Amino acid sequence: MTTRLLASLGLAAGLVLTGTGRIAPLPLSAADGLPNIVVLATGGTIAGAAATDVQAGYTSGKVGVEQLIAAVPQAKKIAALRGEQISNIGSQDMNDEVWLKLAARINALAAMPDVAGIVITHGTDTIEETAYFLNLVVKTKKPVVLTAAMRPATALSADGPLNFYNAVAVAADKDAAGRGVLVVLNDWIHGAASLTKTSTTAVQTFMSPLSGLIGTVAYGETEFHRSPIGRHTADSEFSLDGVTALPRVDIVMAHENMDGALIDASAAAGAKGIVIAGVGNGNLTQGAVAALAALAKRGIVCVRASRVAIGRVERNVELDDDKLGFVASLDKNPQKARVLLRLALLKSSDASQVQRIFKEY
Ligand code: ASP
Repeated sequence: MTTRLLASLGLAAGLVLTGTGRIAPLPLSAADGLPNIVVLATGGTIAGAAATDVQAGYTSGKVGVEQLIAAVPQAKKIAALRGEQISNIGSQDMNDEVWLKLAARINALAAMPDVAGIVITHGTDTIEETAYFLNLVVKTKKPVVLTAAMRPATALSADGPLNFYNAVAVAADKDAAGRGVLVVLNDWIHGAASLTKTSTTAVQTFMSPLSGLIGTVAYGETEFHRSPIGRHTADSEFSLDGVTALPRVDIVMAHENMDGALIDASAAAGAKGIVIAGVGNGNLTQGAVAALAALAKRGIVCVRASRVAIGRVERNVELDDDKLGFVASLDKNPQKARVLLRLALLKSSDASQVQRIFKEY
């Protein structure tokens, strides 16, 4: 079926109607010399739908990958697209099963010589965690680009279509290779390790506050400024070969008058590591420090991060990490620290080894 005929049917190139009327992917082909990009859809608001175009309430993960691609026919001018549905969930429900499936699929696709890059559509709530996880476990220099939307596909001024178009442009750009897993939203290209969600509802929600943007993309025009800091992808020591489950790591937030009850409860629930979203520079009450230090002595790895949105948490500032056996999260916020600690624990539960990992990634 020709591209023109597909277009006349309202379908993006790379998709075809089957006898049952369902849309099925065509095999990849570098038609017109365009790079082959595979779209892996996981759900989120970018695939969300509401009953009207001006209401706050909506459901994530309503639109399938074929519809998502077909809604942005402009993208077929920059890449030959093929879609796969990995899951269709709000990213508040993101889980290890989807993570392991997604990582395995990316590694398999990236090993195929005719695949130039991969775009993953995702919800914004946990995109920073999924991106960082993939940044640590996918073994490729090919572009792997996540995108999302703050407004559902049915909304007035939906942001998903342009974000998707821009993500395809970044994935199709050879200059994106070797820069780790990237996240494209609202014209900005973020590194997986640096971005964080800063507004519950604003379209301009993602920031890379400590180390800045990797680049920008405006209507498909990419501009790269730099590469990310820290080891990633092909250069990462982490591998999921033979891994079927990830260790439990909990995040406990510090506050005024905190005691050690939730820290102890976390250990009792089976956590092999605990990340504290501490006050200020990763601080917590003396009672909570005592509870945490007792767990560190038992071999549970305790990482001090901060509930403050911007800034590093350094070793041995107001707490003696050397004596207490703690790890400082450095540039990682609590949710990034949790992802890294889960992978670090697959290798070691020695606090100094884990601190080395936090320095390098
Ligand atoms: N709750 C949605 C999700 O993360 C929000 C979004 O995608 O913007 O799936």
